[in-house]
Amino acid sequence: MQIMYRSTRDSSIRVTASQAVLQGLAPDGGLFVPEEMPHFDGNWEALSGWDYRETALQIMSLFLTDYTQEELKGCIEKAYDSKFDIPEITRLKETDGVWYLELFHGATIAFKDMALSILPHLMTCAAAKNGVDDEIVILTATSGDTGKAAMAGFADVPGTKIIVFYPKGGVSAVQEKQMLTQRGSNVHVVGINGNFDDAQSAVKRIFSDAAMKDRMAEAGKRFSSANSINIGRLVPQIVYYFYAYGQLVREGSVKPGDEIDITVPTGNFGNILAAYYAKQMGLPVKKLVCASNENKVLVDFFRTGAYDRNRSFKLTSSPSMDILISSNLERLIFRIAREKADVTKKLMDSLVSSGVYRITDEMYRNLTDFYGNYATEEETSEEIRRVYEQFGYVIDTHTAVASAVCRKYQGDTGDHRPMVIASTASPYKFARSVVCAVRPELKKQSDFELIDALREISGITVPQAIEDIRSAPVLHNTVVDADDMPGEIVRWLHI
Ligand SMILES: *Cc1c(COP(=O)(O)O)cnc(C)c1O
Repeated sequence: MQIMYRSTRDSSIRVTASQAVLQGLAPDGGLFVPEEMPHFDGNWEALSGWDYRETALQIMSLFLTDYTQEELKGCIEKAYDSKFDIPEITRLKETDGVWYLELFHGATIAFKDMALSILPHLMTCAAAKNGVDDEIVILTATSGDTGKAAMAGFADVPGTKIIVFYPKGGVSAVQEKQMLTQRGSNVHVVGINGNFDDAQSAVKRIFSDAAMKDRMAEAGKRFSSANSINIGRLVPQIVYYFYAYGQLVREGSVKPGDEIDITVPTGNFGNILAAYYAKQMGLPVKKLVCASNENKVLVDFFRTGAYDRNRSFKLTSSPSMDILISSNLERLIFRIAREKADVTKKLMDSLVSSGVYRITDEMYRNLTDFYGNYATEEETSEEIRRVYEQFGYVIDTHTAVASAVCRKYQGDTGDHRPMVIASTASPYKFARSVVCAVRPELKKQSDFELIDALREISGITVPQAIEDIRSAPVLHNTVVDADDMPGEIVRWLHI
């Protein structure tokens, strides 16, 4: 069955999977969604026997139907290889009926690698399939992790360039150094005076700017996106929820077909949306627990049905979740609006004009798959300490937000189904906050001293991604105002 993709804001816009991957965002500013949700046949025994690559092939081929099996296999083999530091690509760590799904074993030690190591291959393959020989310029706004993972994926990929915008002062020391030391003749990193939302909103405006599009076309170039607004990022993220379930069946922790719950530390709502899609496809998931930090706009949305971004933006110890406009929520809104593009468009227009929208009671009733809650800074650091003291296991700040919220959920509801928590980053990426949670007396140490302390505390080898930046030279130093992002693009591309 061929799956086509439509815009969440205009159902007359209809493209193939490869075209959706190439375009990133729909021309009307909407997000591409599958016209029909593919169904997984429910053979859990078979699933439990597949390795990561086989699971990826089985799941991705249900969505990316205009790619041939050979093309997909090729992309998967190039993506999920020795760039990952464990042959299984991802693994589960159990502590007391809760399984941390370690999604940080890729090249840049955050879960973004799970999708961004394959997106460049899906994209170059899509360009070839569609006879596109324009140079593809990837525009990316990052809250810290997407930027590095996307550059690592696209560096020196022929026919592509990538520009990353990150909030100057809004990312961790390791995140920033990782980005500023990125090599590759086709990469450009720019700090902006503003926060992630400023960067993401500006990128979306640039995508929808007709004059800019013409200017690019004249120069033989076109934009695409490596953010989770691109369906080519979302689909690879569905894979690991299936894989995790297969592993739980395989080790006898759940019986085939039994339900589990999933907790996801959430920012742009991409990762949890992938879990929701997995559920819609038939994966036995009961609750999707949406965990936020103190930027808890989603918690309020799940409680009240009103999305209100008019509030102060907080910098927290989980910077990749410091987001007030969660782009992928639009895909959920579309689904709970029974796929009505006009309803979705109205709400999204209202978000742009007033910063607020409210869903109808009927839509609200379709949100029962979700539970939302948040963890304060104090609770996050207590949770790192608790998990370490109880299990000797060190988790990063984002995972700790999820872990703390998972406990709130289980406390509030009394539900104790097997719980999978998406563990989205290596603790090394946020060494300062992690070490200070466990050993506050070390807080005066330098970032690299803290990394060595973390090695002693955790007993885990320092990942290559960290060793790489210890002595690497800083290669980028551009900082601009958010308003000058289009200007910076024009300057760098010489168009
Ligand atoms: C990006 C990121 C998140 C948030 O994921 P979304 O898909 O944006 O909701 C959480 N944790 C880490 C470490 C991340 O890099």
